[in-house]
Amino acid sequence: MTDSSQSRKIALVTGASRGIGLAIAKQLAQDGFDIWLNYHSNHEAAKQAKKEIEALGSTVTLLPFDVADCKAVQRALNPLLEKATPFVLVNNAGIRRDNLLVFMQDEDWTKVISTILGGFHNVTKTVLAAMIRNKGGRIVNIASAAAHAPVPGQTNYSAAKAGIVGATRSLALEVAKRNILVNAVSPGFIETEMLDGLPMDKILPLIPLRRLGRPQEVANLVSFLCSDKASYITGQAFQVNGGVAM
Ligand code: NAP
Repeated sequence: MTDSSQSRKIALVTGASRGIGLAIAKQLAQDGFDIWLNYHSNHEAAKQAKKEIEALGSTVTLLPFDVADCKAVQRALNPLLEKATPFVLVNNAGIRRDNLLVFMQDEDWTKVISTILGGFHNVTKTVLAAMIRNKGGRIVNIASAAAHAPVPGQTNYSAAKAGIVGATRSLALEVAKRNILVNAVSPGFIETEMLDGLPMDKILPLIPLRRLGRPQEVANLVSFLCSDKASYITGQAFQVNGGVAM
């Protein structure tokens, strides 16, 4: 099958079995994309996500792999890329392992950097050549308020997310002439399992809108950036954060 014979556009969303990634995948399905859905290891959540997205009328290809593992990324994606090319890539998979730097285990530094920054590199590089051949596409990288307004205890996470914003801008310059638009979206505090264990009584007063964001509120911006309406926007980092960082 050649790319031109693809009847519906495809969106590859990493870390899409739960939280923000799932909301993005569902919104892109509603926008008319078929979904290549990556996740790491929670097969039950992924099966449920597939069911929910298929109910919206899109096909879903489940792709369990660790974005930090370059060989695993290529093993999963290369056979699919021989037959089709995603128009959209959303690099969303991410983790946090917070601690003050002086107490941080080396493994927690490495794991966060290799999942967020390494994941961006591994997945984007694997897909990019096909996107270039297709002469168009959209890449949206999920960064964080931590890239713009860091807090103590997140040197690993802030470094990775600030790196994502830098990589977004550099890649946007590299592929603009190929009609591939690359942007970052930086969520603030969004209600997902990633916030489990954080002290909400201390966090909520810091948010000007006085509430957590909803995954759908991030997905709305990603949807816009992947639409025809965003055809002149590239190399930008947009914040969805209730005013937490301005
Ligand atoms: P979440 O609820 O913890 O979900 C994480 C998702 O990423 C899951 O689908 C998980 O799959 C997948 N994942 C984790 N590690 C992976 C890996 N190595 N390879 C492939 N998939 C992996 O997280 P979230 O809150 O939705 O966060 C999504 C993104 O938004 C992250 O990049 C995060 O840093 C960013 N963000 C979140 C917030 C927030 O307040 N929630 C704020 C700023 C930025 P499994 O279930 O299989 O593990």
